[in-house]
Amino acid sequence: MADVRVTPQRWLWTPRLHPIRLIEIHATRGPTSPDAQFQATVNWMQSPNNKGDAAGTWGGSCSYILGRDGSLGAVLDDDQQPTYGAGFGGPGSTFAIDEYGIAYEWCQSQAQEPFTPQQYERGAREIAAKCHKYGIPPGMIEIPVQSGTVPAGIVRHDRCQNGYVLGKSDPGSAFDEKLFIGLVKIELAKLEEEDMGIEFSSSVNFGNEGPGLPKEAVALADLLARYRRDIYAIRAEVASLKALGGSGPLVAKFPGATVQVPPMDVPVEEA
Ligand SMILES: [Zn+2]
Repeated sequence: MADVRVTPQRWLWTPRLHPIRLIEIHATRGPTSPDAQFQATVNWMQSPNNKGDAAGTWGGSCSYILGRDGSLGAVLDDDQQPTYGAGFGGPGSTFAIDEYGIAYEWCQSQAQEPFTPQQYERGAREIAAKCHKYGIPPGMIEIPVQSGTVPAGIVRHDRCQNGYVLGKSDPGSAFDEKLFIGLVKIELAKLEEEDMGIEFSSSVNFGNEGPGLPKEAVALADLLARYRRDIYAIRAEVASLKALGGSGPLVAKFPGATVQVPPMDVPVEEA
């Protein structure tokens, strides 16, 4: 199947009013075969029956549909907020996940079979591009309480307050977070290298064409790749520390306690 552009019903989105800080991971869970899920979800976005209320002010919505073969259905642009992918967290919650999130529906049937390698690869590529564009850290986060400061990261529907309140189970236990985040980080590293004008190459060539590439060369390339990934991780840490910086003491909030951290007296080198 090829990528498709979906024209959703008008009530499935509203103009986005808040900055993009979240990537939402959902699973479709429809009562058809896994491969039929893609077209079924495309149809649902176009269906006049996909209404959350009689007046037709909202409905089940998403930004993108990710098919089993890695096909992508583009439903909304980034400046369009889904009217319902993941909403508020109940009484007292101050924000809806959708207000800050781009929602990805990963196709899966009700049998909740494993997601496919094509879904992980395409999903990682697409989501890394959004992380790169909007400065979203490439890590899974949990949002048990949807009030106050809106965190930035990748959140599963079953790990946010809206999902807890509604008993949501998507994407569920079949979603391999470690594999997915590893792939997102690799894709993000490629984009950052492109920014720096370095061409990314996954193959190694030390002047040895064809077979017979020395084992040492492969090991060296592997080592360099790991150093490169570490450098990106450290750079992200430095950036987050700088964001915390300023002149006053740092304040760290833990559940039930607020701790003041005195300013550092050790000079920190600029990265
Ligand atoms: Zn969901």
